Amino acid sequence: MLSASTFIVFIVINLRLCWIRPVYTCVCGPSYSAYKEELFQNVLTQVAEQFSRAFKINELKTEVTNRLAMLEKRVELEGMKVVEIEKCRNDIKNLREEMASRNNSNFLEDNKKLTPRRDVPSYPKYMLSAQTVDALKKPAFDVWLWEANEMLSCLEHMYHDLGLVKDFNINPITLKRWLLCIHDNYKNNPFHNFRHCFCVTQMMYSMICLCSLQEKFTQVDILILMTAAVCHDLDHPGFNNTYQINARTELAVRYNDISPLENHHCAVAFQIFSQPDCNIFSNFDPEAFKQIRQGTITLILATDMARHGEILDSFKQKVDNFDYTDEEHVTCLKMVLIKCCDISNEVRPMEVAEPWVDCLLEEYFMQSDREKAEGLPVAPFMDREKVTKPTAQIGFIKFVLIPMFETVMKLFPQIEEAMVQPLRESRDRYEELKQIDDAMNEVQKKKSENLTMGGKKK
Ligand SMILES: [Zn+2]
Repeated sequence: MLSASTFIVFIVINLRLCWIRPVYTCVCGPSYSAYKEELFQNVLTQVAEQFSRAFKINELKTEVTNRLAMLEKRVELEGMKVVEIEKCRNDIKNLREEMASRNNSNFLEDNKKLTPRRDVPSYPKYMLSAQTVDALKKPAFDVWLWEANEMLSCLEHMYHDLGLVKDFNINPITLKRWLLCIHDNYKNNPFHNFRHCFCVTQMMYSMICLCSLQEKFTQVDILILMTAAVCHDLDHPGFNNTYQINARTELAVRYNDISPLENHHCAVAFQIFSQPDCNIFSNFDPEAFKQIRQGTITLILATDMARHGEILDSFKQKVDNFDYTDEEHVTCLKMVLIKCCDISNEVRPMEVAEPWVDCLLEEYFMQSDREKAEGLPVAPFMDREKVTKPTAQIGFIKFVLIPMFETVMKLFPQIEEAMVQPLRESRDRYEELKQIDDAMNEVQKKKSENLTMGGKKK
């Protein structure tokens, strides 16, 4: 923009040029005075225009400055609004997290999932090949190959194949709807999710086939074993009982710290059965339903690992003189069977089993991180600073899995090759891995010792 002094110089030069130019061009003209007057008028007009422009520029300048000030004020205000909105967003996020941590069970409030999300197709959508049907009966079945709908078809197939649909007159459409509802009520946890439910049920089906359990048990027992496996971790929040109790969650309060999760899984299972659309037991008489309900509850509650010693000891006392006519013996065996299936990942081939260790550790680390953040006690086996894959696995395979499966092997020797042998191999493999880990740690330790020594010498 022109400054005031530049502007005045500009006018003066213009005036001078106007006066000088006519002296050379028009000195010999007829009416010199008239011409001079006209020229003077022109100059005056030009000066007036220049002044007028200068004033306009000043007006414009003031207007622009005012506008800029207004805009700056607006930007400042909008900026404050953005900060406020961001703050509100953070507050909402924190509140959500707080609610999620305090209220791990949103099942009761989230009733939407209880109602079937859609009706099932009346045509066969997922046909299982003869190869799949055959593989499904074996512990080596690759559980990672299947999408949710395919797993649902496999579960459906198991109920048909075991004769449960026929023997108990289960409505096949209700079975489909029930399974869909089961799927919808498993959360997407790293470990305790619908695929885990599928694994446990598929292992139960394998054991029923491998051990010819249909020759030893009644069909009611088979129905209880399968149904308990399907329902055993329903709505698992991804944080174990210890966390529930220490964090005094709604579940721990509701169930008085007694197996809060397992009680919740049972309650959710029977809330689902309470809907006619999903009740596969609708054709049962009240007495039969009572028996199924009691049997299912007993098995799901038996999956609490805090009761592992108690249940296994009780089974060990019965196993040498096992009596299939003794209801207590049979119930105890069923409890051990669901326990075996629940923790049976290491029975599977290494490529199938190993990813589950990562899933479990991911869930454990999520818990221990939260426990640290909330100032709660942290179990060393869940602490990302302390645990490694081999250390996590060796103790569990040696002291929990092998002793339990070897006890079951006394009743069913046929599981040795298909189930116990893979466990022993898995133990050996993790022991080798641990040796490698230890050797590498030793080298690392020596390296850092040498570095420290070198530093001291200097
Ligand atoms: Zn489980």
